[in-house]
Amino acid sequence: MTEKLILDGNAVANAVKEELKARIADLKTKGITPCLATILVGDDSSSETYVKMKGNACARLGIDSKKIHLDKETTTEELLDVIYQLNEDANVHGILLQHPVPHQIDERKAFEAIDIEKDVDGVTSFGYGQTALGFGKYPSCTPAAILKIMEYYNINASGKHAVVVGRSPILGKPVSALLLNADATVTTCHSRTENLASHVKQADIIIAAVGKPNFIQGDWVKPGAIILDAGYNKGNIGDVDYEACLKQASAITPVPGGVGPVTISMLLKHTVDSAERSI
Ligand code: NAP
Repeated sequence: MTEKLILDGNAVANAVKEELKARIADLKTKGITPCLATILVGDDSSSETYVKMKGNACARLGIDSKKIHLDKETTTEELLDVIYQLNEDANVHGILLQHPVPHQIDERKAFEAIDIEKDVDGVTSFGYGQTALGFGKYPSCTPAAILKIMEYYNINASGKHAVVVGRSPILGKPVSALLLNADATVTTCHSRTENLASHVKQADIIIAAVGKPNFIQGDWVKPGAIILDAGYNKGNIGDVDYEACLKQASAITPVPGGVGPVTISMLLKHTVDSAERSI
């Protein structure tokens, strides 16, 4: 049996964070502490956990975080005012609006209000457009994490057929663009795709970004394919049927410990990048 490569997200994240330490120390000698502002609207417990994890990750590295927790009844206008204030605050280098937001809020309008220079999570349409054109400063963090894992493990996308399952604005679409810019031939699948399994079966690289536990089946995977599972569902379950797909794949990210930790490290990296650009 050929050896399987388990793509270790914690190792990749640690390498990213190690590289950031010297840059943060250098910024501090110049009187600048990188700062990420997180905005949480409402009391969704998963969102609260994600925001807390991001704040803790900042603290461990010496990055400041400014946590703004707004009431679940907050209006779009009230949220926009908060974002405008953060845009103006010279001590804030990155702004992260945790999504989903409560239904009364126009989420797209709120994302668009984030200053492009502080859009470290790649949620504005301007940032997405720049990413698609190949010169985005801050691609969305999960797509950036997927490309970072590939870089760390010397997985070259050039000429390979990548099949992305999912087309959300923060994940499926931008990761498709990044892979295309890395010279992969990209197929993006979604809920209206016909014969999904037949598309996935052609993939050299599979990106799972569906939001459905154990969705990608082992018999959809071409022998030797590389699988990156961005899915994160209740109970720490990915979008890939891990055990079945592992049998077919040559390399695979586990859940947890795959794409997730690298996503957070990319958020920290983008915040440090932004702090450096602010000088
Ligand atoms: P999303 O906005 O719900 O998008 C899901 C995508 O999957 C949509 O494009 C949808 O197609 C497609 N889809 C749904 N059912 C399908 C089906 N039966 N066949 C084919 N495609 C189908 O989700 P998301 O925000 O992109 O997140 C996706 C997953 O990644 C979730 O598990 C989420 O928790 C995880 N995630 C992880 C991280 C991390 O840091 N690891 C970060 C973000 C998200 P339509 O467009 O046609 O509806």
